Amino acid sequence: MFKINDNFCKLSESYLFSEVARRINAYKAAHPEADVIRMGIGDVTLPLCEAAIEAMHSAVDEQAYGASFHGYGPEQGYPFLRDAIAENDYRARGIEIADDEIFVSDGAKSDTGNIGDILAQANRVAVTDPVYPVYVDTNVMGGRAGLISEDGRWSDIIYLPVTADNGFVPAFPVEVPDVIYLCYPNNPTGTTLNRSQLKAWVDYARRNGSLILFDSAYEAFIRDEDVPHSIYEIEGAREVAIEFRSFSKTAGFTGVRCAYTVVPKELYGTDNKGNKVSLNHLWLRRQCTKFNGASYISQRAAAAIYTPEGKAQTREAIGYYLRNADILREGLREAGLEVFGGMNAPYVWIKTPAGMDSWAFFDMLLDRCHVAGTPGSGFGPSGEGYIRLTAFNTYENTLEAVRRIRNAQL
Ligand SMILES: *Cc1c(COP(=O)(O)O)cnc(C)c1O
Repeated sequence: MFKINDNFCKLSESYLFSEVARRINAYKAAHPEADVIRMGIGDVTLPLCEAAIEAMHSAVDEQAYGASFHGYGPEQGYPFLRDAIAENDYRARGIEIADDEIFVSDGAKSDTGNIGDILAQANRVAVTDPVYPVYVDTNVMGGRAGLISEDGRWSDIIYLPVTADNGFVPAFPVEVPDVIYLCYPNNPTGTTLNRSQLKAWVDYARRNGSLILFDSAYEAFIRDEDVPHSIYEIEGAREVAIEFRSFSKTAGFTGVRCAYTVVPKELYGTDNKGNKVSLNHLWLRRQCTKFNGASYISQRAAAAIYTPEGKAQTREAIGYYLRNADILREGLREAGLEVFGGMNAPYVWIKTPAGMDSWAFFDMLLDRCHVAGTPGSGFGPSGEGYIRLTAFNTYENTLEAVRRIRNAQL
């Protein structure tokens, strides 16, 4: 009789977004006249930029003729894209990254989830709390999380609380983790680490022999000089960090699918005999075995983001979302709410007033303002008492949401 992977049974049903949808639908059924503005979505809304569209059209045309047809490509991505990434995202910023340290993929969600394949099950994993749920759930599947307790924490995961109390900067835990997930600019809090705060974590990882898995899916939203665009801006990070990036939020590719992971050649792990093993080599082996490359059309679209037109057009789209984030952040502050994030990120993280819990504030915003957010508690125990609103809406809806919240005098 075959057996399943028992670890999957430990996972609770992902209840957050279905419960949000259920409450919105129930509210709309009871109040058909209500024009609900959805500010819970973590998906982009603007169409793809012209440069990407043109590149995709010509890539499609190439597929129509035997002479220019592309079948399987290199598992780690086409040289034209790996080179454009290394050149524009790294070398142009003075960061030494070689083309063969770049691994193109179909998403940062799959890469951050799959990276566990090359790491021992015995590793102790740390995540910030609140957190992007993928890091936790994939470690549950991989048998690294232990058992879940009443308060929603996994017994073998080390939680790094990030709240208003510590300015959303994770402190070093008592127990030293082997693997540390950091996501900056952060989803869900919309906060960042400055250069010295990120350096402290790189130094910590070097001292302790830990691996940092650095998710910078929101890098394109950074405008402050003191916020690093890449963890490799920090000295010594090449020996301790893997970086994940995606075209999803950078260029609206959530439906196109293209991302990449950087695994530097100085990065070594230890096997159970104490030998040093290259992670770049292991990840190449993993990708070549389990992945057959992102589509040629997606990779052509991604490469077009690095042309002068592509850069200008994506910067404009990001600017549109950042303007929404400004309106939310400042407007909600004027409405008397305590608001965090939303500076170099498309998310604002709002403290619920008068100690309400996340779901109670969600219901109140929905009922009194017809604005739907995402309850902070859905991202981890330390997200309790917060709600997330996103800038991925129209400018007009963003203004209207702020107007309603201000008038409601919550
Ligand atoms: C949106 C997002 C990603 C991007 O995932 P893709 O699979 O590339 O679309 C990665 N990490 C975080 C934290 C995100 O919010």
